[in-house]
Amino acid sequence: MNPFIPLSIPNFIGNELKYVTDAVQAGWVSTGGAYITKFEQVVSEYLHSAGAVACQSGTAGIHTGLMVMGVTSEDAVLVPTLTFIAAVNPVMYVNAEPIFMDCDDSLCMDPVKLKLFCEEECDFRNGQLISKNSGRHIKAIIVVHVFGNMADMESIMAVAAMYNLLVLEDATEALGTYYSSGKFKGKYAGTIGDLGVYSFNGNKIITTGGGGMLVSDNLKYLQHARHLTTQAKSDELYYTHDEIGYNYRMTNLQAALGVAQLEQLEHFIQIKTENFKQYQNSLAQDGIHLLTYRDNIRSNHWFYALDTAGLCLDRDSLIAYLASKGIQTRPVWGLIHEQKPYNNKEVYKIEKAKVFWQKVINIPCSTSLTKSDIEYVTNVLKQINRDE
Ligand SMILES: *Cc1c(COP(=O)(O)O)cnc(C)c1O
Repeated sequence: MNPFIPLSIPNFIGNELKYVTDAVQAGWVSTGGAYITKFEQVVSEYLHSAGAVACQSGTAGIHTGLMVMGVTSEDAVLVPTLTFIAAVNPVMYVNAEPIFMDCDDSLCMDPVKLKLFCEEECDFRNGQLISKNSGRHIKAIIVVHVFGNMADMESIMAVAAMYNLLVLEDATEALGTYYSSGKFKGKYAGTIGDLGVYSFNGNKIITTGGGGMLVSDNLKYLQHARHLTTQAKSDELYYTHDEIGYNYRMTNLQAALGVAQLEQLEHFIQIKTENFKQYQNSLAQDGIHLLTYRDNIRSNHWFYALDTAGLCLDRDSLIAYLASKGIQTRPVWGLIHEQKPYNNKEVYKIEKAKVFWQKVINIPCSTSLTKSDIEYVTNVLKQINRDE
């Protein structure tokens, strides 16, 4: 009998049941309650941000983020193609146009091509970056910190400053990742740009079932985000509304789970880092490699990316073979610019993303993995080449 080793499952080893029970007993289960405020407070303390707004999902957070940054149907937004589609769909929710960028070896947006695009494909007029192709004002960049790595924020922020671009960091996969040296030493992924968004979906490093958080040092953004996510009430009693709002607030039940999970975050990062090293050391003996994280950061090691080029099975046969051995894996996301709703959108020199899409798979990374689970997975992988 093979074991079954899932790709990524949540881990409730702390005060989760206690706090959720407390919220239920107190009768505060919906979009008001002390745990929501508490969760916002502990997240913003952890990240050293000026504040935080809890919302219903990471996707809702990104949508709200674009709205408070003032991105409208007149604008274009630079986005990555190699990421989960929820990072880009909100651009369409606000009727703006995405322009797709390539990744570098970190799997995050390539800052060199980003700069080249601005120089070659755009005009910079009256403080605005204008796409030569569409004539649209490019207002913002959505940067995704893929798999818990850090995008090259030093270079990206420099380009953004040069061309007056707002930066929204999709840090949904990178809670806990920070720069350990350099210009942004001590700065967490999600707190470097104008606005950052986290997700607490079931497979993220900490979960609230479903949920998200928006952080910023711009208090106006935060205030507006809180307003928009709670139906834009300008008067609570008389139900007057001054703009179109959304039912995007996190519930107290979710926040109770979140407070308990955040208490575990550093512990989870420690486990994920150790497990990553065990995989890496064991597989390296046979010339099989995991993609690594940037050198000058403390990564949260959320997801592990295996470079299948070192194996003698192609990607899809490998996934099927591992499944037959009870090991759940998955390819990286289909490139977004090739998806039906986006296949006529502007793209710029997408090359590396295609290569990584073809050869990378994610392997089991739950915090509940045991040493012997990892040994089992690495043995199955190493045996593939030895059988050849
Ligand atoms: C998970 C994720 C999201 C969306 O978060 P939800 O909470 O599931 O809405 C957005 N972007 C990326 C890169 C993600 O991995």
